[in-house]
Amino acid sequence: AKKDGRNAYRFFTSEMQAQSARALMLENALRRALERRQLSLHYQPQFSLDPDGEARIVGAEALLRWQHPELGWVSPAEFIPVAEASGLILPIGEWVLREAVSQLRRWDDAGLPGLSMAVNLSAVQFRHADLPQLVERVLSEIGVPAERLELELTEGAAMDDPAVAITVMNELHARGVLLSIDDFGTGYSSLSYLKKFRVGKLKIDQSFVRDLTDDAEDRAIVDAVIRMAAALGLQTLAEGVETEGQLAFLRRHGCQAVQGYLFSRPLPAEAFAEFVLARTAP
Ligand code: C2E
Ligand code: CA
Ligand code: CA
Ligand code: CA
Repeated sequence: AKKDGRNAYRFFTSEMQAQSARALMLENALRRALERRQLSLHYQPQFSLDPDGEARIVGAEALLRWQHPELGWVSPAEFIPVAEASGLILPIGEWVLREAVSQLRRWDDAGLPGLSMAVNLSAVQFRHADLPQLVERVLSEIGVPAERLELELTEGAAMDDPAVAITVMNELHARGVLLSIDDFGTGYSSLSYLKKFRVGKLKIDQSFVRDLTDDAEDRAIVDAVIRMAAALGLQTLAEGVETEGQLAFLRRHGCQAVQGYLFSRPLPAEAFAEFVLARTAP
């Protein structure tokens, strides 16, 4: 046992030791991942929903992938926290932004319909002073209008320091970039902040979508979020949509957009382009 400063003891079990050894090993491997070209992006299509029309592809969410020669595919749920704790998320996050915006440009050049590109931001990137300038620089270097980029921020990242969040959101908004709150409903955002935050969209967390067809409470929550968002002039996108039943509920209750395995898993860039072309061909 190790004394914790106050009068509590923290016990390090062998399981905890194994976990921190793995984190350390991942951190070292992650340091070289960028230069060794082990990182890539997959893209999951996002669809707009009309009350009765067809779902239409309107954008993509870029999702980071890491393939290590010995470790294989490491899940972002495991390596993103390691990247955040070590500061590696800054160079990695910048690479993600550049790669996603470049890919959007390549799709434009290849004649795909004008999609939006959603990029996940870590709280560490969000707090970094240079973010609005970096975003502006990347967009102008690659030649993509700011309105095509959407940055996804979790509630936690925004609520960490709401005053800073409001300033950064204003700066991004002034540059024309769209912001959305990711995993909405899982954090602890004070609803009063929603009207101060310069966000355009709430992404309803997949944990509320999962049991939508048999859980009355989840249905009530999702319905309430959609209504509240509409009253505040915000769009809603439900993530993790896997069944027709979930889709029907979301459509009926006025959710504007969806993404999920029902439509497509996240795809490598080439496969994404084929998917879009197959769906939009006359
Ligand atoms: P997220 O931003 O909430 O992304 C949605 C996750 O749900 C993705 O997992 C996606 O593959 C998965 N998903 C999509 N549709 C479905 C579905 O229908 N059912 C189920 N069960 N899952 C679905 P993924 O790609 O493993 O990413 C996990 C998390 O890692 C992301 O959650 C995000 O928080 C983080 N992440 C991924 N890429 C980046 C990145 O470039 N930067 C940062 N900062 N975080 C990232
Ligand atoms: Ca996201
Ligand atoms: Ca999410
Ligand atoms: Ca999530």
